[in-house]
Amino acid sequence: MTDQTGDDRYKLLLIEDNPAHARLVREMLRGTPCEGSDIKHATSLSAGLDELQRDNFDLVLLDLGLPESRGMETFTRFYTAAPTQPVVVLTSLDDGQIALEAVKAGAEDFLPKDNMAGSLSRTIRHAIERSRLSGKLLEREQQLRTIFNRSLDGMVVIGVLGKIHFANPAATRMIGADGADRLLFQIQQAKDLDLPINLTFDPDEGPQILAEVRIASISWDNTPHYLVSMRDITLRQKIEDNLRQAQKMEMIGTLTSGIAHDFNNILTAISGIGQFMASSLKVDEEFREDARSILGAVERGNIMTRDLLRLSRPQDIEKITIDLNSLLRKTEKLVAATIRKTHQMKFVYAQESCPVLAAPEALEQVVINLLMNARDATPEQGQLTVEIDSLNRAEPFPAVKGQAPPGRYARIRICDKGCGMPSEIRERIFEPFFTTKEPGKGTGLGMFIVYGIVEQHGGWIVCDSTPGQGTTFEIYLPVDLAKNQVMP
Ligand code: ADP
Ligand code: MG
Repeated sequence: MTDQTGDDRYKLLLIEDNPAHARLVREMLRGTPCEGSDIKHATSLSAGLDELQRDNFDLVLLDLGLPESRGMETFTRFYTAAPTQPVVVLTSLDDGQIALEAVKAGAEDFLPKDNMAGSLSRTIRHAIERSRLSGKLLEREQQLRTIFNRSLDGMVVIGVLGKIHFANPAATRMIGADGADRLLFQIQQAKDLDLPINLTFDPDEGPQILAEVRIASISWDNTPHYLVSMRDITLRQKIEDNLRQAQKMEMIGTLTSGIAHDFNNILTAISGIGQFMASSLKVDEEFREDARSILGAVERGNIMTRDLLRLSRPQDIEKITIDLNSLLRKTEKLVAATIRKTHQMKFVYAQESCPVLAAPEALEQVVINLLMNARDATPEQGQLTVEIDSLNRAEPFPAVKGQAPPGRYARIRICDKGCGMPSEIRERIFEPFFTTKEPGKGTGLGMFIVYGIVEQHGGWIVCDSTPGQGTTFEIYLPVDLAKNQVMP
């Protein structure tokens, strides 16, 4: 402790069995900057260690020749009991070797007992300052280590030959077993190290991740190395992709409803003329038959435009609060007749009631469209599953429209083990008129309508599909909390 006058008043503990020598130490400090120090005296090692239990000391002066032990053994016993306590050892003149050993083993310094008059005060001050400084360094190092260890971003120091010298836990989690090789390869390929690169990694645990990687050239142990920082952007990327998809859908939706509207007018005109021709007595029956086929085609066109126009007029659809379970029990009966002929079908209902604000017919159409697609993708006798449940999502989650807010949702999962889809197809399924089916087999409107209806219900749709393994669609609909007395 340094006082206002610049003198150093320390708290010292002298462990020394010889009272005369202890007196001498006090005398030697007289007239030095350490004069005002508070010196406690213990006459044995165990008494000294007891003293350390009771109080804190800036420094211990430890005589190595004590009744209980001598030489290095004294120091070892002391250091084992008080490893963080700064200590200067007092040695006899011929103990030079032991003194050096003690310093190597952790003592701050040594003083030859018979010749310390000139250096005692200076040694005490230096030892204390040094140990304070190294304590501070240690503390700073621990702080930096905490930052590295707790950082959500990965940090890696990698040699130019690919040897990893340092990796924080976030990096270790991200890069997985072959990550170091890939990192080095990418660094070597990178034309401009200043630009971030996106890399995928296969962690040893968990799914593949996408990371934004930045590289800096640094010197480590005096040789050139790379400092690589990596941020997991898997979720961000997914949300951005979804948002882009949503914007595209909005544009296409506007275009489609415009076309549907005009097309509907044309159909009305054709239908009028067709009806006139079909009922005309001036023409023969064959001609009227042709006119009726025109009317049949017009009717199919009408259904299509009606579906499309319904999407562009959300205000027209009437919603009521219904329990998804009971709604889907009806749908199950409806589709049973067609699908059960070729495929197995399983409906699993929620234990709890799942009230949602919905247009029942529209929601039914969603499930039917999804089931028809699942059937088309699945070989005969394959199983299609529809599952209903409800859940709390505490975090926002990626959905087709970007990011769905947290909250209580009812969920319909429609699952098949059919052909699945590669990502190029999965990205386009919601576009109107996108179909991979043969001409005449698909209109490409089913998923577009599904998307629109789910959106009109304030809901979210998530698609997970693997080629050759199958597809799962999940539809999240906000639970109508006002009607939700059954659930907690
Ligand atoms: P359509 O059924 O008339 O082709 P949709 O809009 O219903 O039109 O579907 C668009 C496309 O999405 C389908 O042609 C198909 O390629 C793909 N698809 C939709 N659902 C699935 C599924 N469960 N499994 C595989 N592919 C699917
Ligand atoms: Mg379809």
